[in-house]
Order: sequence, then structure tokens, then C-alpha cells
Amino acid sequence: MTARAPAPPALGTPLAGIASEVYTVPTDKPEADGTMSWDKTVLVLVRARGGGAEGIGWTYATSACKPVVEDLLAPAIDGVDVGDVPGALEAMVRACRNVGRPGIASCAISAVETALWDLKARVLGVPLARLLGQCRDEVPIYGSGGFTTYDDATTRRQIETWTGEWGIPRVKIKIGESWGTRPDRDLARTRLVRKVAGAGVDVLVDANGGYRRKQAVRMGRRLREEAGIVWFEEPVSSDDLQGLREVRDQVDVDVTAGEYGFDLVYFARMVEQEAVDCLQVDVTRCGGYLEWQRAAAVAFSRSLDVSGHCAPNLHAHVALSVPNLRHLEYFHDHHRIEHMLFDGVLSPRGGVLRPDPGAPGHGMVLKAPDAALYRTA
Ligand SMILES: [Mg+2]
Repeated sequence: MTARAPAPPALGTPLAGIASEVYTVPTDKPEADGTMSWDKTVLVLVRARGGGAEGIGWTYATSACKPVVEDLLAPAIDGVDVGDVPGALEAMVRACRNVGRPGIASCAISAVETALWDLKARVLGVPLARLLGQCRDEVPIYGSGGFTTYDDATTRRQIETWTGEWGIPRVKIKIGESWGTRPDRDLARTRLVRKVAGAGVDVLVDANGGYRRKQAVRMGRRLREEAGIVWFEEPVSSDDLQGLREVRDQVDVDVTAGEYGFDLVYFARMVEQEAVDCLQVDVTRCGGYLEWQRAAAVAFSRSLDVSGHCAPNLHAHVALSVPNLRHLEYFHDHHRIEHMLFDGVLSPRGGVLRPDPGAPGHGMVLKAPDAALYRTA
């Protein structure tokens, strides 16, 4: 690099260390969507030290991210200036060339990258939102859960909590049960949600790729007519871009996807093929905050909104930084886990997240004694 103006002293220091820890948290009930079931969630935490501070970031993925962080990524960014997060991201991406970036490697990169931004903001003593820059002061959220394993009473209670107790005017449930083989139950559950939520609440559905193309069109029309849905997520597999486009052309409701985007090429392809009305981007998978902003820019170039996928507390600050944000997914599992493991999490009440303007970084620290109960590596 050529000579640069002097950095603030703390930014002129190299990274002092990267470490990772694995936490495994059981679900509170058996959970399933249209195409998968699970009973636990794995959070891989990364600690980044330097400039007299520590930043943390994480991904919701698999313990296999830990050796990727330690063996591949940490050596690649050894000695990088704590201020040069874009350079660190590029070094990590290049280090993953031979193992392949999409999937586990990109989740590991995301955990490190978000920790590095948190570290930089803490070194400077500013909230992450101030470091990234803001387009807005608050992030609209939607309540997300409504698993296909829930009975009606459980679904009803969850919707009432989100809309009544917390005042969130948007809710999303899972449909496409058992790979699209329970369409009548999908319709009945969505009608129940519409009834419980009331007229002023947006109802969103997520089929997780459980339907086939024509079936998705038929379901989209009925769900719109019978329950007034506004959002039809992954009506068919998100790998089937032509299928998404076909459904999109034939239903009134917005078709969305993008949660499995692990690099910018994926988002560019999805947008170029006009597969979605709103692009979903997950900061714990896509490569971190900078890549999340870049994906939002790809969407913005085609007049599309973005919606943050899951990990609500990790997304909040970056979601403030883009002009085309629609909302952020306030996912049941991650609400539980982030409240269990971290101090400094944000309240969902009122249907918006408002990052604390007085807390440096993203404002969260691990609750070490509580978290220790769930540490698995
Ligand atoms: Mg989804």
C-alpha cells in the first residue's frame, strides 16, 4: 500500500488474536419446517482481539466452522491492522479458494468478519451503526417461527405474544409441511394465523422449497385469497431460479428467497434472473457485514428491497445502513439463544429494533457463566 494519513493510534495496531467457541442450544420444543426438522441450534462464536479491545461475532451453523476459523482464516489475517476489515475479508476469501467458499467456509468467514467490525467499532469507542453509517434509526422486524410441528394452541400463543404482548405488526409461519404433502393443513394453519393476528397485521409464509412449481402457484393464490398473505418465501427450491420466476409471474404476492446466499455471485444471479421480489440476506452466512451491504446494493440496482434473515441482534446495526431495507426476521430460536447467551440484546417490543446509541460495537457481550452451560467445543 502507498503512504496513508496517520490512523487513530488504536487502529494502527495489528490483530492480536482470533479464537472460536461452539455453543449448542436445544430447542424449547420439537421444530420443523417444510423440508427439515431439528432439535438444537449450533452457534459458533468468534472472539477478535486487538487495539486493547475484544470484538465478537458468530454464525448459526456447525461446529465444523471452528477448525476453519482456527486453521484457515486466523493465519490468513494474522497481523492485519484492526482498522482494515475489508482487507481482512478479502484475505479470508482468498484463503478458502481450494476448500470452496459457499457453505461452512462462508459461515466461518461471516463469524470472523462480524467480530472484526465489532472490534473496530469498540477500538474507536463508537456504536457499529455510527461506524457503518445510518439511513434510519430503527429496524422493522417480523415475528418468525410458526413451525409445522406446533399444534394450534401453540401457534396461537406464539402469534398472540408477537402481536399482542410485543406489538409486532408482521408474522411469519412455516408451510409446505412434509415436502408439500399437507396442503390442507398449510391452508388451515395460515387461516388460523390470519384470524388470531387480526386485520392490521401482515401475514408471511415460508415453504422452505417444499412445493413443486404448479402446486406453489395454486397454493400462493389460495393463501392470498383465504388468508391475505403478503410474502411467499421459497415457494419452490431457491436453487430453481426459473421456478421462482414462474411462480412470481403467476401470483400477486411477493416471492422471496436468498437465505442460502454465501457469496455475491449467488445474489447477483438471483436478481439477474428476476427470481424474487425481495432479496433475503443472512449476515451469518453471506460473508459478514460488508458482503451484506454489497448484496443490498445488488438488490438496490434492480429496485428491490432486502430483508435480513435471522440472527436479529447481529443484523440490527448493518440493517440501519442500507436504503432499501424492508425488514428483519425476528426468529424464535435466535431470540431465545441471543437472550440466553448475550447481554446487550435488543427488545422486539413495538415491532422495531433500536440499537443503543451509547454502546460501542454491536453492544453485546457473552454472558460467560450462562453460556458455559451450552459450550460444546
Ligand atoms: Mg426461510
